[in-house]
Amino acid sequence: MTRSKSVEAFKRGLNVFPDGTTRITIERDPYPIYAARGEGAALFDVDGRRFLDLHGNFTALINGHAFAPVVEAVTRQLRDGTCFANPTEAEIALAALICGRIPGVERLRFVNSGTEAVMFAVKAARAMTGRPAIAKIEGAYHGGYDWVEVSQTSASTNWGPPHAPANTSYYRGMPERVLDDVVTLRFNDAEGAAALIEQHADRLAAVLLDPMPSRAGLIEPTPAFVTAIQQTAARHGVLVIADEVLNLRQSYHGASARIGLKPDIVALGKIIGGGFPIGAIGGLADIMDVFSKKPGGPLVPQGGTFSANPVSMVAGRAGMEALTPAVFDRLAAAGDTVRSGLRQSISRHGLSFSVTGAASLLRVHAKAVAPLDYRDAVETPAERAAISRYVNHFIEAGLLVPASGMICLSTPMTEEDLQLIIETFDAYAALEAQQA
Ligand code: PLP
Repeated sequence: MTRSKSVEAFKRGLNVFPDGTTRITIERDPYPIYAARGEGAALFDVDGRRFLDLHGNFTALINGHAFAPVVEAVTRQLRDGTCFANPTEAEIALAALICGRIPGVERLRFVNSGTEAVMFAVKAARAMTGRPAIAKIEGAYHGGYDWVEVSQTSASTNWGPPHAPANTSYYRGMPERVLDDVVTLRFNDAEGAAALIEQHADRLAAVLLDPMPSRAGLIEPTPAFVTAIQQTAARHGVLVIADEVLNLRQSYHGASARIGLKPDIVALGKIIGGGFPIGAIGGLADIMDVFSKKPGGPLVPQGGTFSANPVSMVAGRAGMEALTPAVFDRLAAAGDTVRSGLRQSISRHGLSFSVTGAASLLRVHAKAVAPLDYRDAVETPAERAAISRYVNHFIEAGLLVPASGMICLSTPMTEEDLQLIIETFDAYAALEAQQA
């Protein structure tokens, strides 16, 4: 596979970016693949190679690249102006669409990224409750706000007791005292989570929960875990924030609706922007009043130069309007097809692998038993090496996956594309079985 133009671009990138690129979390061994253009499910690199894009820009591109209704809406908007300090009707249209679909979202505010959405959701919860702390899931990713970064790099060397994970992992750049205001819960540990919420209730503003946290293993929550969080939080006046930035794509009504969770606040992003930068915080009208200027309220100042810019608004509307319930059903069926194909291949070749995920997302683990929580999902060096071989095999075969090995499906993918994923995995599995 020729990569001469990507190699050349990377050399230039090293002169201007620490680590050579701003896109630091993409597969880059030994060089990142530089994108030239995208069309539907295909991404073409600067060397002219076509890839089936199973990355989908961190799952944001549910309708693939250059989706015609988005291109048309954005092209029109570009001529009419790209951002105004004034509100536009376009923001009302997208907000109304989202409020109409996501249970519990009566009011919302737009921001520019999922990180911002989570940050303002946490601030809203603090303002509503007058409490400083949050509880979050060990290993779960919620963007770059200090409090939600806690435990992202949790490793066995700093794990606390099973039911009370230690908060000892944090990034440099995060003040250590941030740890005082975060309680870490283990995913799917219903009893442990309930006990910790109860123990810290008088200081907890919210429990922050991504219904299927990708970096913590892309694992489905058990009904007992969801119920424990919902009921314990409600009993103690602790709000529930659902981070649906990534998992809104699970169904027409979102991820919480799919698992019976009723959040007080929802953080959104990715697919609601139609491929353009976006984020949103939504919730019941009385909670969202923390962002209003009503006198006497617990005001949280919230703004942003490019928030609700009309380009993201019209793109988001065009992308979301195309996502009917039938389209979500088709995507979920496509996910089932690929998950089942991969599992059959794993068993045919006798690999100690498993597959997790739901709807249009799936993740391959080099583990015989599918993980139930983050600690199960943490890879040994040998498991990491196996996943890297699978990722490299896919990329060599022209299927683009991130280093984690997560596979993200999109609406332009055909039956042939799904079979190609299964066949490519089967070829990898055969090689892996030979090595074992
Ligand atoms: N929350 C979740 C669950 C995410 O997956 C992400 C991004 O991947 C974010 C928040 C942050 O979103 P953004 O990258 O738009 O800031």
